[in-house]
Amino acid sequence: MKIITKTKDVILEALFPSSIKCILCGRDVPDFENSPFCSNCLSEGIFNDANRCVYCDNPILDGNKVCDFCKEKHKSFDKAFCPFIYTGKVRSAILKLKDDNGRYLAPTFAKYMAKRIQDEKVDFDIIIPVPLYKKKLAKRGYNQSELLSNELGKLLDKPVCTDLLLKIKESSAQKNLNFAQRQQNLAGTLSLTDKNFVKDKKILVVDDVMTTGATLNACASLLKHYHCSAVYVSAIARNPLEKVDKK
Ligand SMILES: [Zn+2]
Ligand SMILES: [Zn+2]
Repeated sequence: MKIITKTKDVILEALFPSSIKCILCGRDVPDFENSPFCSNCLSEGIFNDANRCVYCDNPILDGNKVCDFCKEKHKSFDKAFCPFIYTGKVRSAILKLKDDNGRYLAPTFAKYMAKRIQDEKVDFDIIIPVPLYKKKLAKRGYNQSELLSNELGKLLDKPVCTDLLLKIKESSAQKNLNFAQRQQNLAGTLSLTDKNFVKDKKILVVDDVMTTGATLNACASLLKHYHCSAVYVSAIARNPLEKVDKK
């Protein structure tokens, strides 16, 4: 019996590592509940907490309110909430959450997303995760955006709808495409199962990372097409936009 318990503990430890190590680098942290990051990681500027675009959460120079990107192109979503910068160890942790069974990272990251949303005092009716195409879902075994959505649902006391927005077609790799090319690439890959349901609703769409914002924007654009009253979007981390645009 003891052996079974111990084996169970080993498995649980592998799935959900003890909450006393920095979730980015594995160093010991003194007060994990208050800060799951060590002082070393904190000194690397992991938070997206400096001056930001009021619409898309893009880090911008002090004194500015809207980023150049939002000035040029109309976004379908109303506001974005991304508490971290997509770089260095945060980027590695998100890749682990996505592709390396790092499910245990979702509750911690979701806490920071929830705090950002609460701090901004926006209200919404339902949470929708950015969907994965079924083949990708079968290969990965889980949708990381759904894990984050479920945690946010618990923290913010909101229902999560996982069968409303579907990915019906695979889009080709987005990595080297700019915003406009990504929008083109995503066109026709998403579908709503109940178009009347979203009417007059305020919706929070959740993804793991926001690079150009094209994926979240494509979801928002479809929801707005069917007359939902507001679309907010949230991702763990934001890729500062000028880096993407220079490509
Ligand atoms: Zn660390
Ligand atoms: Zn912006």
